[in-house]
Amino acid sequence: MRMKAYGKINLGLDVVRRREDGYHEVRMIMQTVGIHDRLDLTEKDEPGITVRTNVSFLPCDENNLVYKAAKLLMEEFDVKKGLDIYLDKHIPVAAGMAGGSTDAAAVLVGVNRMFSLGLSQKELMERGVKIGADVPYCIMRGTALSEGIGEILTPLPPMVECPIIVAKPAISVSTKFVYENLHANELEYHPDIDGMAEAIKRGDLKGVVDRLGNVLETVTATKYPVIEEIKAYLMERGALGALMSGSGPTVFAIFDNEETAEKAFEDLKNVGLARQVFLTGVKNCGKRLF
Ligand code: ATP
Repeated sequence: MRMKAYGKINLGLDVVRRREDGYHEVRMIMQTVGIHDRLDLTEKDEPGITVRTNVSFLPCDENNLVYKAAKLLMEEFDVKKGLDIYLDKHIPVAAGMAGGSTDAAAVLVGVNRMFSLGLSQKELMERGVKIGADVPYCIMRGTALSEGIGEILTPLPPMVECPIIVAKPAISVSTKFVYENLHANELEYHPDIDGMAEAIKRGDLKGVVDRLGNVLETVTATKYPVIEEIKAYLMERGALGALMSGSGPTVFAIFDNEETAEKAFEDLKNVGLARQVFLTGVKNCGKRLF
């Protein structure tokens, strides 16, 4: 069974408060983009889960989120057969694109289908949140408002199609580090998440771009100046807007013109600011589960 697991960007990311239990309450506008990992799931007669991947530094044991996802469902439903997972990774790792979460989401959907477990999308999402806060969204995909710790999801109509450049500089950022260093109660600026949701509903790309904002930039972009450098570079080359995604360090830029985006993409690839550069677009997956 072959599956595509898509990455996301955050068009808006606000932190409302830090909860007593250490989790942060967020309000985010999530958007699936065209960059994806490929997963091959193969049933085995002998029990056990095996994980293989094309990326040498990723764990292949229970520390890989795909392993956790398979184990969660296979234990609960006492599946006697085994499963081999091959993960062909393309989404930048530790980058703010929910790469691990989307792989886990694909495995939950795949295992449910492969072993005929009969779980609904909602039931898969309830299990997904045990693996990670973004996993329920990665099962749902598309354009959505995400609240709580990320598990309260309100679908939005698809965002206007547009070219998007995604660029990851040669640094890795731990989500934990960023949240630990965020002064959630002292933020001077909060992005207009509700205004952005309204702009998406109106199909108003300019309204979306005018409201791009991510409070986690106060931590990650302050520590790594290359983030603002990439944003400025892409703005000079005709982007309508540019922002860091999630806890970073990935930057994305929105264009309204394919040619301008292609030229900016070629220039950015050659200038050495980012190690991974993609020219992609919004991905609207419809109601189909992977
Ligand atoms: P988020 O946007 O949800 O914060 P992220 O892009 O910052 O996610 P990931 O790429 O999901 O971060 O992974 C972060 C860490 O999780 C990596 O350092 C990696 O070792 C571990 N990991 C476990 N499973 C996976 C996986 N399938 N893909 C990527 N990373 C994984």
